[in-house]
Amino acid sequence: LQDKLDKALHNISGRGKITEINVAETVKEIRRALVDADVNYKVAKDLTKRVQDKAIGENVLTSLTPGQLMTKIVHDELVDLMGGSQEGVNLSGKPTVILIAGLQGSGKTTFSGKLANYLKQKRSKKPLLVACDIYRPAAIDQLKVLGTQINIPVYTEEENKNPVAIAENAINYAKSNGFDTIIVDTAGRLAIDEQMMNEIKSVHQTIKPTETLFVVDSMTGQDAVNTAKAFNDTLNFDGVVLTKLDGDTRGGAALTIRSVVEKPIKFISTGEKMEALDLFYPERMADRILGMGDVVSLVERAQEQFDEEEAKKLHKKIAKNEFGFDDFLKQINQIKKMGNMKDLMGMIPGVGKAIKDVDINDDAFKHIEAIIHSMTPEERRRPSIINMPRKQRIAKGSGRKLEDVNALMKQFDQMGKMMKMMQGPQGKQMMQMMSK
Ligand code: GDP
Ligand code: MG
Repeated sequence: LQDKLDKALHNISGRGKITEINVAETVKEIRRALVDADVNYKVAKDLTKRVQDKAIGENVLTSLTPGQLMTKIVHDELVDLMGGSQEGVNLSGKPTVILIAGLQGSGKTTFSGKLANYLKQKRSKKPLLVACDIYRPAAIDQLKVLGTQINIPVYTEEENKNPVAIAENAINYAKSNGFDTIIVDTAGRLAIDEQMMNEIKSVHQTIKPTETLFVVDSMTGQDAVNTAKAFNDTLNFDGVVLTKLDGDTRGGAALTIRSVVEKPIKFISTGEKMEALDLFYPERMADRILGMGDVVSLVERAQEQFDEEEAKKLHKKIAKNEFGFDDFLKQINQIKKMGNMKDLMGMIPGVGKAIKDVDINDDAFKHIEAIIHSMTPEERRRPSIINMPRKQRIAKGSGRKLEDVNALMKQFDQMGKMMKMMQGPQGKQMMQMMSK
């Protein structure tokens, strides 16, 4: 029973008013979780600020399921930040030309193969792969191997050292050979450098791609953001491909890149196999990021702390005989919010018995509330001053009978006594007796 009482107090008191401090603490924890998931600090800070405003606006922690609601707010903000919905690749060109750019090792060549495979299998396209990495002969071979694997032709000019010319020739070849989609794989460097940028820029200007995709390794964390920014400044690309999102790589980079360059992430690459390519869905990435930081449990922990504090406050009030009708009203409001009222009421000593045979509906509460609302603040704080004339006035004001007011006073009195007893040494004794 002690457990039950604690639980009841915990339940009814835990849903009380939430202060901004509680939300702020929770939000701080969420921010930490996001940063842990590789989200850039500033992005995480802006995001959690918006979450905080929303949470206070929606009275999150007074809701039935603060953890879930809070998570939903964070989730929605993440989705928003990542563009809201899936954005596909633009295939409207005649033919469609797709330029693939990014640093060396980011996964361009692998992605080129995957994209060709996807377009052929899922979009019924007839793609041509073009090898424009003139610096590494192995890169050309790599694309050829992939092409053979997925049964898609690869255009190469092994002796030609001019990527612009190769790309142009490839497009002409594609046009006269019935290919509708051309995927141009380019050379990258280990870091951003001027020569690489100039080269990709002139390819871009010459072939005027339908779609330019920037490929970035999600494992590079914050560096990915700087790289994305540099490429975007040069190419004004159309979309981002996040690679190496397999294993336990965190998705935080997705969020940061999106908010820094304001371009949609279109694909995610999740392995070395040609099938390991997914369209990017903000919803799913939000789930992934949230899963990493386990925001739900953070919120729940914060909520528990809050519950305990509130319960302690209530205990103190009861002990000091300060439990008044305003507190009673608060309890009723919270109970109403919680639903499943009879069960919950049954857990409150005194109240449980009093309402056992009552058919609980909102009307039952309405009468009680009406009566309490007709009391003055002083009367609510110190119910002992409510004498007969006051009772009559309250009855009149609330449109109830004098008996109703008396009944409520009696219930309240019993409840107060019972609650107090439960807390004292007698209560503990009694509890022990009862549990035997
Ligand atoms: P490029 O230099 O940009 O063309 O990069 P590559 O396509 O050659 O990829 C570099 C390395 O990363 C290769 O070993 C790939 O197999 C590997 N790789 C590419 N994409 C992925 C991915 O999504 N997941 C994993 N685990 N490895 C990848
Ligand atoms: Mg390559």
